[in-house]
Order: sequence, then structure tokens, then C-alpha cells
Amino acid sequence: MSHTNTPHVLILGGNFAGLGSAQAVRKYAGKDVNITVIDRKNYLLYVPNISTEIFESDHPELEKNLTMDLPSTLAKDNVNFIQGEVTGIDVNRQRVKFNPAERPGAEPQTIEYDFLVVSVGCELAYEDIEGFAEYGDTVSDFYHAKKLFKKLTEDYHGGNIVVGSALFKQGDGAIGLQPYPGGSIPSAKAACEGPPVEVSLSLANWLNQHGKGGPDDITITTPAEMIAEDAGEDVVTQLLEAASSMGFKYVNNTGDIKRLTEHTIEYENGQVINAEIKILFPNWKAYDFLKNLPIADNEGFIVTDLYMRNPTYRNVFAAGDCAAVTVPKLGAIGHQECDIVGRQIAKDLHQLSAEKADVSLQPVVFCIGDMGDGKAFYIHSNSWFGGPEQKLVMGHVPHFLKMQYKRMFMNNDGKVPPWGLDVAEVLAEKIAV
Ligand SMILES: Cc1cc2nc3c(=O)[nH]c(=O)nc-3n(C[C@H](O)[C@H](O)[C@H](O)COP(=O)(O)OP(=O)(O)OC[C@H]3O[C@@H](n4cnc5c(N)ncnc54)[C@H](O)[C@@H]3O)c2cc1C
Repeated sequence: MSHTNTPHVLILGGNFAGLGSAQAVRKYAGKDVNITVIDRKNYLLYVPNISTEIFESDHPELEKNLTMDLPSTLAKDNVNFIQGEVTGIDVNRQRVKFNPAERPGAEPQTIEYDFLVVSVGCELAYEDIEGFAEYGDTVSDFYHAKKLFKKLTEDYHGGNIVVGSALFKQGDGAIGLQPYPGGSIPSAKAACEGPPVEVSLSLANWLNQHGKGGPDDITITTPAEMIAEDAGEDVVTQLLEAASSMGFKYVNNTGDIKRLTEHTIEYENGQVINAEIKILFPNWKAYDFLKNLPIADNEGFIVTDLYMRNPTYRNVFAAGDCAAVTVPKLGAIGHQECDIVGRQIAKDLHQLSAEKADVSLQPVVFCIGDMGDGKAFYIHSNSWFGGPEQKLVMGHVPHFLKMQYKRMFMNNDGKVPPWGLDVAEVLAEKIAV
């Protein structure tokens, strides 16, 4: 045990997966465990609603509506918070190196752990797309979302808009896992394609409302055979039929995004599409400090079994986007993983029986995407992993759920009560549209 006799759980990263893991460890392991979260920033960034905020409001208030203070939220569960930049992990000596990050120039520090949870997410590798800085746009953080909003409102007067993803370079860390009988963790060509679908639909509505165009002006591209393949073939077929009847253009099998110029986007397969605006989602890449660690796969994602535990270093866990098994990179799957991490650590600490703790990951894609005009699409599917579900609902109820889910998350310190998801399921699938 570290410093005291009380076991120390150290959690790296404090966004969805880090906060969720800290709360799950406290919930299942009880009070006799010290928990520390380290994050370079001291707030949670509610990424999934950024595009809704800019496309549904004439005066988006991103900071006000989509951030949550981390230290005070964690303190409610007696979890310590350190604002620091993690720079290295020594799994043999059970130590993590970090630089305190409140002010630049701080000296490196080390901290010891008994259990480690890696939940640092991924780098969104926009800098790997040539020309992105000059000609690219996105909605994965406030800076870029504001830049896009300004461009659309002030500079855009018509012309093609491309919404698409770069190629995802997935590692080999989840090969052989079988989450459902006969299933697998699939190999994905795009890291997360709910966002491009959502952005396309809600942007079309925004263009329409502002007299600047509509679906005809938008081309959706994917490096994969089929966009959002995690949703399942039936769901995607329905989505594509709906999108093409609205007038969207759709291009698949593009390969990676090669280059952006002022008026074009070029793909690995040689295709060049004219585009005045390019709203893109990049490769989700593991951080450099994770690469070559004995717990990482060939791309730097953390290797775990379906109990989110590293097979070699049994006191090391991962949750969220940085875990090799998290495919696609979806907050909803990370949410399922946090609960598993909490149960496993509680089991090791003899606070939970193996019977209650050993619930393995069966990933489910829950995705609610804004379509504008008070409507949204709701996807509930596990077929990509070998499960039986494939449901799609479109309409006003899913939109209501998307907004309610965020409100519930923010008002309950990120603790979405289990009934929250069940209610969402019942409302969307049984009562909608
Ligand atoms: C535009 C967009 C829309 C999305 N919409 C949805 C959606 O509708 N539904 C859904 O389920 N998912 C959605 N996702 C995916 C979802 O946002 C991610 O799956 C989720 O954020 C992953 O959570 P995480 O905690 O694993 O990683 P992150 O949210 O990336 O958090 C990682 C944390 O680790 C910290 N960190 C990283 N490196 C270090 C370091 N070296 N030192 C200290 N701290 C560090 C970061 O500051 C950050 O707080 C969307 C993603 C995008 C980009």
C-alpha cells in the first residue's frame, strides 16, 4: 500500500471516464479507499452537445452550458483532485510522473498507487491533416466550434460543405476478445461517426433556417464501406435512405483525408471534392506517453480484458477512449466501462463479491444525435459486436431525451442514475415518436 495503509486508487484523466470511474470506485469500494484524479484542466468538457449548442442557438453559451467544475464535483465523493499534466507511467514501480499544471514551469512530481485507472482519452489528431489549420473546421471543442459558427454566420454565402472523418488507426489490443457469444471487438475505419451524421443533419436544418441552403449543399464522406457502421447495417440503411431522400450527397470508401486546400478536400483514394467548408473528425490517436508502455498495444491504446483490467499488470485498468476495447470511441461505452472498473477494484478490496463484481463488458452503442428543428435520432445497437439489438428512432422524443440527459448529467454531478438510461430506452423505443 502507498503512504498509508489505506489503498490508493489513482485515476488519470477526469472527463467522462475519469469522473465516472472515480464515482464508481467510491460507490462500490466504500469509504476506506483514497482516490485521486489527475487532469491537466480543472473542468469537465461536455463534448457531445457542442454542435447542438451552436446550431440551435443564435448566441451559443458553450462555457456556461457545457462545463462542470471538477475539484468541487469530485470533493462531494471525497475524491482528491490534482491539476497536473501526466508525463509517464512506471507500471513496475507503481508510480506516475506528472507536472503540476496550475502554473507553467512547475517541477516534475511522482505519485504512487495501488490501483491505476488510465482514462486520459485520446489526442484528436487534426494536425495530421494537411491544411486543416487554414481550411478545416470541427466541433469537438469550444475554440473550433466558435470559429465555425462565425464562419457560417458571417462568411458563408453558399457552396458545398463536406462533413467527414479521417481514417482511424486502431491498434491490435482488442483482438480475440468476445463480448457476445461469437462476436468480437470490430476493426473500425472511423473512430466515432455519430458526430458527422449529427452535424450533417443539424447543419442542414441551420442552413435552411438561415436562408443559406439545406441538405443539397452537404456531402457526407466516410473512409469506411458504410458510415456509422457501429449502428448496424439495418439502422444505417434506414439513416442513409432518409438522408438521400432529403438531398444529402454521400461518398464512402474514401480512405484517409489527404489534404485540404481553400476550395477542395483530397482523399487517399484520389477523389477530390469541392468544398467551401470542411467539417472534419480526425484520427483518435493515443498519447505519446502511453506508446511503448508494457500495458499498451501497437498504437498506444491500453490493453485490457473485458473486465477493463490489463492482463499482465492486474492492478492497472483503463476506461473510455484510451482503452483498446473502446471501439467506437463513444462516451456511452466508456460509461459502461466505469461501472466495471468500480466493481473490479471493489472486488480486489474485498468489498464486493466476485458474483456481483464480475460483470464483463458487453458494449452497447447508445447514441442520440441532434437533427435540428427539435428532432433527433436515437440509436440503440450492439449488433456490430455480435449482439441482437438494432434500433433507430427519429423524432421529437429523442431530442427531448438528448437535452434531458445533459441536464440530468450536469445537475447530478455526472451521476446519471441507472433509471435515466432505462427511462430513455423506454421513451425512445416504446413511446416515440
Ligand atoms: C464532436 C463529438 C461529439 C460526440 N458525441 C458523442 C455522443 O453523442 N455520445 C457519446 O457517447 N459520445 C460522443 N462523443 C465521444 C465522447 O466525447 C468520448 O467518447 C468521450 O469524451 C470519452 O471520454 P474520456 O473520458 O475517455 O476521454 P476525454 O473526454 O477525451 O477525456 C480525457 C481527459 O483526460 C485529460 N488528459 C489527457 N491527457 C492528459 C495528461 N497527459 N495529463 C492530464 N490529463 C490528461 C483531458 O484533459 C481530459 O479531461 C463525441 C465526440 C466528439 C468529438
